[in-house]
Amino acid sequence: MMIAGVLIALSMAAICAMALYQSRLDAMAHATEASRNVALLAEHDIERNFELYALSLQNVVDGVNDPELMAASPRLRAMALFDRAATATYLGSILVLDAEGNTVIDAASEVPRKGNFSDREYFKVHQNDPNIGLYVGKPYASRLRGGSLSIPLSRRISRADGSFAGVVLIAVQLEYFRKLFASLSLGPHGSVALIGRDGSMIMRQPYDEKVIGRNIRDASTFKHFLSATEGSFSDTSVIDGVQRLYYFKNLPNLPLIIMVAEAHTDIYAVWRHRALLIATVMGALAAAFIGLSFAFGIQLRRRLRAESELAMLARTDGLTGLSNRRTLGEILDGEWRRARRTRSVFSLLFVDIDKFKVYNDTYGHQAGDDTLTAVAKCIGDNIRRPADSAARYGGEEFIVVLPDTSPEGAAHIAENIRAAISGLCIEHSGSEYGHITASIGAATWTPEQDADVSAVIHAADKALYDAKAQGRNKVVLSMSPLA
Ligand code: GH3
Ligand code: MG
Ligand code: MG
Repeated sequence: MMIAGVLIALSMAAICAMALYQSRLDAMAHATEASRNVALLAEHDIERNFELYALSLQNVVDGVNDPELMAASPRLRAMALFDRAATATYLGSILVLDAEGNTVIDAASEVPRKGNFSDREYFKVHQNDPNIGLYVGKPYASRLRGGSLSIPLSRRISRADGSFAGVVLIAVQLEYFRKLFASLSLGPHGSVALIGRDGSMIMRQPYDEKVIGRNIRDASTFKHFLSATEGSFSDTSVIDGVQRLYYFKNLPNLPLIIMVAEAHTDIYAVWRHRALLIATVMGALAAAFIGLSFAFGIQLRRRLRAESELAMLARTDGLTGLSNRRTLGEILDGEWRRARRTRSVFSLLFVDIDKFKVYNDTYGHQAGDDTLTAVAKCIGDNIRRPADSAARYGGEEFIVVLPDTSPEGAAHIAENIRAAISGLCIEHSGSEYGHITASIGAATWTPEQDADVSAVIHAADKALYDAKAQGRNKVVLSMSPLA
């Protein structure tokens, strides 16, 4: 009962745990999908803007190579070279540098701001490689715009003979990415980043200026980014140590990787809250269930014990503790049938205390009861086999049932009982022996005889009568055939 209760409670808890685990997996799947969507939004915006910047750059390169246009007045030239792109919100500057890195044309003013950028990485890249095309550089702090952070987009200007003639540069303010990322919702501990394929951090949300330009080439997360065009995985950030689910995508037309990461704590926040609630309720229910089944089990066991005690009492004689007459009937019935079936001998003793009426009259009813109990104990002590049984037949008469017992065996047991009762030495002045004695009649049924159980009892009773007649305190075996 209690074990069943615990098992049921455990399986309820297991089902609950399985459901919770499933919903945890669902939370993760949902987060992956959400991250992918966020990345897609950012990707579209960046691609669209960079396409416009690339077109603007190409426009400048084409114009610079047109001698007719270059001969025009600076105002006309600027109108042709820099279309509306120059006025776009996050465009830092558009500059044309000559082969030495000096500014020659500046979209911001007719007289170019002075500067030499031959030390810049993008400048060297174009100087050394005519075929690089559109180049996306690392973040830098602008010299012309008071240190504002930008990334350079550049193209090489080549002369007709292919030699290096300079660079056209568009500086895109990192503010653009910052605003873009800030508009994406990613949970309180989420993170979005744009990373160059070489590992340099271009922008990261949450924003920290120190992180911009940092190279994360050696971080475990970055190695994942290069392993496929896109994908997702869980890892711990090297920047802030937060465990996140990462989604990344290598942009198809730019050397950039967009990364969207949602913190596990955010992903599982709702789930955890719900799981805690369900687990608490479930735990309380399971505990209550176990408690109830224990209480019920204890109650049940107590009742069963009481019932078996009652059943025992119903089967025994209150005074002597031997089987009562009703039980004797059952025993006789069962043993008799068994003896006939297995064709085995079956003996029965009839024990009767001598002159007991006188004893009662002399010593009182209570002394009589005590003697009855002592005699019953003598009888019980002298039957040893498990199949043997003794019962109080009535008054001061007892019957002993001895299955599988020969006349000799029965006589032997009877004699032991007689001697034991006599050996109690309970004073009985009305007896010729001076103390309590009993007479015993014994009868045996053998398979050759055609008789029923009452004939056996009758024969034993008759033998008992003979024992009384022969002077009491005797054992007499029934010799006459059963009828
Ligand atoms: P006998 O030697 O011929 O057997 O003489 P007896 O006096 O024992 O014979 P009888 O069967 O006439 O008497 C039985 C007496 O046993 C009657 C009663 O006083 C006593 N008796 C029967 N049942 C109980 C009992 O439960 N308690 C007590 N104290 N005495 C009982
Ligand atoms: Mg009697
Ligand atoms: Mg008697």
